[in-house]
Amino acid sequence: MSTLEIRDLHVTVDSSDGEREILHGIDLTVRSGETHAIMGPNGSGKSTLAYALAGHPKYHITGGAVLLDGVDITTMKVDERARAGLFLAMQYPVEVPGVSVSNFLRTAVTALRGQAPKLRAWVTEMKEAMNRLQIDASFADRNLNEGFSGGEKRRHEILQLELLNPKFAVLDETDSGLDIDALKVVSEGINRFRADKEHGVLLITHYTRILRYVPPDHVHVVVDGRIAEEGGPELAERLEAEGYERYVRATA
Ligand code: ADP
Ligand code: MG
Ligand code: MG
Repeated sequence: MSTLEIRDLHVTVDSSDGEREILHGIDLTVRSGETHAIMGPNGSGKSTLAYALAGHPKYHITGGAVLLDGVDITTMKVDERARAGLFLAMQYPVEVPGVSVSNFLRTAVTALRGQAPKLRAWVTEMKEAMNRLQIDASFADRNLNEGFSGGEKRRHEILQLELLNPKFAVLDETDSGLDIDALKVVSEGINRFRADKEHGVLLITHYTRILRYVPPDHVHVVVDGRIAEEGGPELAERLEAEGYERYVRATA
C-alpha cells in the first residue's frame, strides 16, 4: 500500500511578465487502488499540477510538499521521481528524433528496474503490451513522438504505463484527440493498470467522457488554482450536466 500526498502545494510559473503563482495551495491524497479525477475549466491549473509533480523546470514549488510514502519528492530530479514510482504522461509530449520507441522504452525500463531486461524477453513483453493496446508492430521502430497522431500519443502513454508499472500515474488529458474506439482501448489500458488495486491514478481531464469508461473513486474540481469542490463519482455526473459555469461565475 502506497500513498501520494500533495500538501498545501503552491506553484509558480516562469512567464514573460515574471513569476506568477498558479496553484494557491492544493491538498490531495491518493492511495494505491484509488482513481482520482482532477477536473476543472481551461486555465484553472490542472496541467500546472501535472508539470509540478513531474519536476518541469519552468514550474516552481514555492510552498507545501509532495510526499510519496512519506518521502518528499519535490527536490528530486525527474528520473529520481520516476524511480520513486511516479509516472507522468504529459499533455504535449516532446519529439525526440533519432530515438526509437522501443529504445526509449527499454532505456526507461532499465533505469527503473536497475538492469536491462533480456532482449528476447523484452521484445515479447513489449509486443504483448502493444497487442493489448492494438498498436501496430511497426510503431516500435518509429522515432519517439515524431509525427504521432493524437491517438498514437495516448496509446504510447498507456504502453509506458503498462511496461513501467509505476506506483502512481498522473495522466493529463489522456482522452484528448481520441475517437471513441481509441478512447475505449486507452481506457481499457488504464483499467488493466488499476485492476490489481496496487496502483493509484490521477486522471486529469476537462471532460467527463473518459470517466464513463474509467470511473473514478474521487473527483476534485480545480478552479483558479484551488480545489473548489470534492466528491465522489456523482460529482462528475453533475459536472457533465451543469458544466463549470457556476464555479467560474462564483470566482469572477
Ligand atoms: P489547465 O491545464 O487547467 O487548462 P494550466 O495549468 O495549463 O491550466 O494553466 C493555468 C494558468 O497558468 C493559465 O492561466 C496559464 O496561462 C498559466 N500558465 C501555465 N503554464 C504557463 C507557462 N508555461 N507560461 C505562462 N503561463 C502559464
Ligand atoms: Mg490548458
Ligand atoms: Mg491542461
